[in-house]
Amino acid sequence: KEELNMIQGALELRTKTVEDVMTPLPNCFMISSDAVLDFNTMSEIMQSGYTRIPVYEGDRANIMDILYVQDLAFVDPDDCTALKTITKFYNHPVHVVFHDTKLDAMLEEFKKGKSHLAIVQKVNNEGEGDPFYEVLGLVTLEDVIEEIIKSEILDE
Ligand code: ADP
Repeated sequence: KEELNMIQGALELRTKTVEDVMTPLPNCFMISSDAVLDFNTMSEIMQSGYTRIPVYEGDRANIMDILYVQDLAFVDPDDCTALKTITKFYNHPVHVVFHDTKLDAMLEEFKKGKSHLAIVQKVNNEGEGDPFYEVLGLVTLEDVIEEIIKSEILDE
C-alpha cells in the first residue's frame, strides 16, 4: 500500500510543478536586510526553527540573500552586528527557479547540491505595465520528497 503510494508520488513528479508544493511567500519566515542581530532578532530566528532564512531588501518580494542559521554561530548578540555584515561575509548564492519547473527537474537540481532551497518566481505579464519577475514563494528538497512519500515529514 505504502509502496504503491510512493510509486504514484514518484510518477507525479513529472507533472507537478514547484508552484504546487512550495511555501507561498506570505508564509515564508524572512528577515529584512537592515536588521540588527541583537538578542531579540536572534531569538526570533532561533525560535522560527528554520535553517535557511531569505533576506529581503525593502519589499518582501525582493530577496537578496539567504541567511543560514549556522552563520550565527560566532555572532554575539551583545555586539548588535548588522545582518549585512554577516550576509556579505558568507555570501550564499540565491537559487531561483521558475514556477512551472517540474518536480523531477527540481529534484535533479537539488541533487547537484548547490543548495536545497530555491526561490520560486514567475514572469508576471498580467495587467498594463511591462512584464516583471514576481516572487511566489520558496521550495526545498523536503517539499519534493514529501510529494514522493505523500505524507508530511514531521520536524522534531
Ligand atoms: P528546515 O531545514 O529549515 O526545517 P526544510 O527544508 O526541512 O527546512 O523544509 C521544511 C518545510 O519548511 C518545507 O515545506 C519548506 O518549504 C518550509 N520552509 C523552509 N524554510 C522556510 C522559511 N524560511 N520560511 C517558511 N517556510 C520554510
